[in-house]
Amino acid sequence: TNFGFSKVKYEEKQTKVNEVFNNVAEKYDLMNDAMSFGMHRLWKNHLIQEINPHPGMKLIDVAGGTGDITFRYLSYLKNLDLIKFEASQSPLVTVCDINENMLNVGKDRSIDLKFQEKIVWKVGNAEHLVEENDNTYDVYTIAFGIRNCTNIENVVKEAYRVLKPGGRFMCLEFSRTNNPLFKKIYDFYSFQMIPVMGYMIAGDWNSYQYLVESIRVFPSQDEFASLISDCGFRLFYNDREAKKYTANNHIIEI
Ligand code: SAM
Repeated sequence: TNFGFSKVKYEEKQTKVNEVFNNVAEKYDLMNDAMSFGMHRLWKNHLIQEINPHPGMKLIDVAGGTGDITFRYLSYLKNLDLIKFEASQSPLVTVCDINENMLNVGKDRSIDLKFQEKIVWKVGNAEHLVEENDNTYDVYTIAFGIRNCTNIENVVKEAYRVLKPGGRFMCLEFSRTNNPLFKKIYDFYSFQMIPVMGYMIAGDWNSYQYLVESIRVFPSQDEFASLISDCGFRLFYNDREAKKYTANNHIIEI
């Protein structure tokens, strides 16, 4: 039953990840709310605030899944300036994900939200963004996606390539805590509760067990930060406390 990274061969990981997201696509958004007690909304909104969207900005949302980050970004732009938003003819965001089922759920949602003309949906691997040219985007987001990729370094290198000089790499990801009490609570919750909730809500124990394990094997904040700067980014933390206790939100400039 255990198919955390440690037990899966390197070449098989992406196939397993695809199975996981095929299984959960329909229930993905519901499960996010249930498992994080709605907290993922706060983390994502925080990310959008940090992006500081404005008209003319070009965003690529990689591992964009069902489009949650993209929809929050577009809603922010729409609230900022409705006239300019509605007048813009060309798409404002490219969403890229390796899993077509996740994208299809997102496409349906984009129609309900009347955002369909503002988004280009592309099936693609974050490690090789074959359809993207160099120096194209102002902002690259990857939210709860990078730990699912097989080679994290390739992902960050690709982000660097497709970003314009001065563009920002913005990654939201679960990481580790150094607080012993919080760690105990988190360990109990994640090992004991998340797979049970996955089974009860989405009818899928294994996919959620994978999720917990994938968080555990992801590099620590500091290891990840050095990998990012080794790929050429200039790095600064916007919030050390948030980094410790919630998501790991690096704001990086080329
Ligand atoms: N960013 C979305 C959000 O915050 O709701 C979705 C995150 S979901 C946890 C992770 C996504 O990463 C899945 O949709 C999965 O298909 C995608 N993914 C996994 N490996 C990938 C890869 N190598 N390239 C692109 N996307 C990938």
